[in-house]
Amino acid sequence: MMAARGFDYVIVGGGSAGCVLANRLSEDSSVRVLLLEAGGSDWHPLIHMPVGFAKMTDGPQTWGFSTTPQIHANNREIPYAQGRVLGGGSSINAEVFTRGNPVDYDRWANEEGCEGWSFDEIKKYFLRSEGNTFFAGDWHGTDGPLGVSNLADPQPMTRAFVQSCQEAGLPYNPDFNGPVQEGAGVYQTTIRNARRCSAAVGYLKPVMKRANLTVEIHCQAHRILFDGTRAVGVEYDCKGTLKQAHADQEVIVTAGAIGTPKLMLLSGIGPQAHLADHGIKAVQDLAGVGENLTDHFGVDIVAELTGHQSLDKYGKPLGMLTSGLQYALFKTGPVASNVVEGGAFWYADRSADVPDLQFHFLAGAGAEAGVPSVPKGRSGITLNSYTLRPKARGTVRLRSNQVGDMALVDPNFLGHPDDLKTSVEGVKQSVEIFRQKSLQKYIQQIRFPNDSIKTQAEFEEYARQNGRTSYHPTCTCKMGVDEMAVVDPQLRVHGVEGLRICDSSAMPSLIGSNTNAPTIMMAEKAADMIRSSH
Ligand SMILES: Cc1cc2nc3c(=O)[nH]c(=O)nc-3n(C[C@H](O)[C@H](O)[C@H](O)COP(=O)(O)OP(=O)(O)OC[C@H]3O[C@@H](n4cnc5c(N)ncnc54)[C@H](O)[C@@H]3O)c2cc1C
Repeated sequence: MMAARGFDYVIVGGGSAGCVLANRLSEDSSVRVLLLEAGGSDWHPLIHMPVGFAKMTDGPQTWGFSTTPQIHANNREIPYAQGRVLGGGSSINAEVFTRGNPVDYDRWANEEGCEGWSFDEIKKYFLRSEGNTFFAGDWHGTDGPLGVSNLADPQPMTRAFVQSCQEAGLPYNPDFNGPVQEGAGVYQTTIRNARRCSAAVGYLKPVMKRANLTVEIHCQAHRILFDGTRAVGVEYDCKGTLKQAHADQEVIVTAGAIGTPKLMLLSGIGPQAHLADHGIKAVQDLAGVGENLTDHFGVDIVAELTGHQSLDKYGKPLGMLTSGLQYALFKTGPVASNVVEGGAFWYADRSADVPDLQFHFLAGAGAEAGVPSVPKGRSGITLNSYTLRPKARGTVRLRSNQVGDMALVDPNFLGHPDDLKTSVEGVKQSVEIFRQKSLQKYIQQIRFPNDSIKTQAEFEEYARQNGRTSYHPTCTCKMGVDEMAVVDPQLRVHGVEGLRICDSSAMPSLIGSNTNAPTIMMAEKAADMIRSSH
């Protein structure tokens, strides 16, 4: 073991939240910051080409997780992509830029014990992070590190999708992050100058040369080091060598909603009985560590097209060549597409105050690991829908006390009957949208679900058999003041000192949209809270 090196802050996990904190905390040149990331650098060109998302939901930039058998989803072990690379999820995600609905944050503040997190209080952090190149005004930031833009040229199928939604009765919405969330439109994306703007690109790269910031990749934290109940550093593996880093001020955990609870448990913070089962000495008995796992269970429908009208045609060698050239020369064309171009927020329950369903339209088929596709040589389109506020809660638990063993990820998909009901409504509405005339004229047949699926029970079975993660695990170290809360509203871990959790795992409940921008908002607020406390 090498001698411990000293820092003021040791940040574990260089994903969406970790990159924000590395930037903001090292703004003060007198503060020494270490950022540790288990994955490698984000050198791979597919990370930076927007369309690369379609190749990124499995493979070397991910952890390779699968769920435990999902008892309400036909006992399937469902692939569970999470980023393992600098930038974390923001380096491999679909670049969809949404913030959720103000009611989500008001619920955090008013019902879930998170004082200071109402929408009015956190809005400034969204605006501070946002570098929108199109919208401005009360609802948007224009100068933030997170580049946000409109797609220059949405695919013809995406345009037809938005028109089909209007034919189905959903109003057109040009801005899902404005005062009105409901409706259908083309997503804004975390793309800047036709390249992905991950948290690594937006926040970390511009400050990498700061003398007070050290970034170490291929370094996986094994455990947090404690002096009594005070976190004083981290033990980590760096390319085969075990090292220690000392934190004079704080250890900040941003290892994501799977990695964070795993590290906490391995460090002796979690439910006493679970720690004892694995022979881990408890530093602090905290019942909520690894509990409350909440994710959006998405169900896809897939249609085969009459011809090659979608992005799929560019998967062939000639298409790849021409689109690659177009992108290289002009930064336009299919390579500049994030694939998941279109979307909608709408209602399964028409009497609800805010949308309870979100749709993602993919101008292609077979883009994501584990999603059905059209026959080889044919072209398709995909529409995914999910329940925005699922009621099922799952867990992240240790398989063993060995850091090399993957955690047991059990999202307990469809574990509440209301989630199944809403999911089925999402599938039915998806089919309805595909049947409207603007899309119908391009559709040869809807392959998934096929015509044989008619009754409520058959749709339920379809959802159980085809649903999957939408890559939004959250809440596994939730913020709050109840007995299941792991961190307080300042994101400090209950019962110990010198330790905060500042990532998606600290959400008290899942918000009603994609989770990248909300996680970045949390890290921006965390940076302010940390700076003002020292
Ligand atoms: C395939 C995919 C598509 C998505 N699409 C969208 C989208 O279109 N829009 C959107 O808003 N959101 C999307 N998301 C979700 C969004 O990207 C995540 O919610 C967000 O990135 C979570 O940020 P985080 O900081 O909590 O965790 P992460 O970004 O996952 O960061 C955690 C980091 O910690 C590292 N780590 C873990 N354990 C350790 C350890 N022990 N030591 C050192 N490092 C460790 C990991 O390798 C990772 O880099 C998507 C996510 C995925 C995976």
